[in-house]
Amino acid sequence: MKPLAAAVLLAVAALTPAAPAAAPPAVRAAAAGNACDAARARPRVPGLPAVLDPDALTAPQVAAAERMLALRSLRPAGERRRRADDKVTVPVYVHVLHSGAKGDVPDAMIDRQLAAMNDAYGGKGGGADTGFAFALKEVTRTDDAAWYADPQANEKAIKTRLHRGGAGDLNLYTADVGGELLGWSTFPWKAADEPALDGVVVHADSLPGGPIEHFDKGYSAVHETGHWLGLYHTFQDGCGEKGDRVADTPPERDPTNGCPAAKDTCPAPGADPVHNFMDYGWDSCMTSFTAGQGARMHAVWAAYRAR
Ligand SMILES: [Zn+2]
Repeated sequence: MKPLAAAVLLAVAALTPAAPAAAPPAVRAAAAGNACDAARARPRVPGLPAVLDPDALTAPQVAAAERMLALRSLRPAGERRRRADDKVTVPVYVHVLHSGAKGDVPDAMIDRQLAAMNDAYGGKGGGADTGFAFALKEVTRTDDAAWYADPQANEKAIKTRLHRGGAGDLNLYTADVGGELLGWSTFPWKAADEPALDGVVVHADSLPGGPIEHFDKGYSAVHETGHWLGLYHTFQDGCGEKGDRVADTPPERDPTNGCPAAKDTCPAPGADPVHNFMDYGWDSCMTSFTAGQGARMHAVWAAYRAR
């Protein structure tokens, strides 16, 4: 499929429910999973059909989440919570699913993944320092061929068995998420209702130094963790007025493929944020979060994840 057609399809996916009848088996299995409507996948292949992105948030879903967030943010005073400008260090449980040697990523690679996240959220690539950092708490390793090969279909079983900690702990699972996707995440507002399903799943091969061309710097986990912290895609709602609910990310009509030198798809001021971690560009294209995204993540953290 040509990139342009893909962009149109993905844009359509953001506005309308995906058509499950046309989904291939692996995706149908995922659509039956409990966590799916709370997740948002990062596609690996430009030209991904909309049906492979079954958990895209529609504009009404985003509007509902925003109403909920506004209510949560007005909870009675006296309830202890972090200030929005606090530094937050998130404990991380990494769960390695593997099949023998396949997917059994070494500890050094996990360390590099955490370093990539800390650099990204610390603004080391040139973006804003978001005030979030990540500290490895524990690594679990599970040798299970089925779980490794199809974490979407087995999501509930995997997470129910392995999930650790609470809403303020990041559970990061690595497995073979397939040829089309790089990972997916749950959103913070689902954590209370489905605590065990909370977390991020990424392709084992997307970790830093992995074998997926263009997606080998560990930014799939950076991107998915952005969702886990409450960020939408920079192309959420396209050129619509509210966009991704972050003021300093210019709107863009559709996801970025690869790394275009210039892209400006909306009449509003500002070129498309093709270097933002919450777009769909190559890892080599991604450099930054914005200050506005940092502020949003802290607001969402205070509402849903702070202890
Ligand atoms: Zn995403």
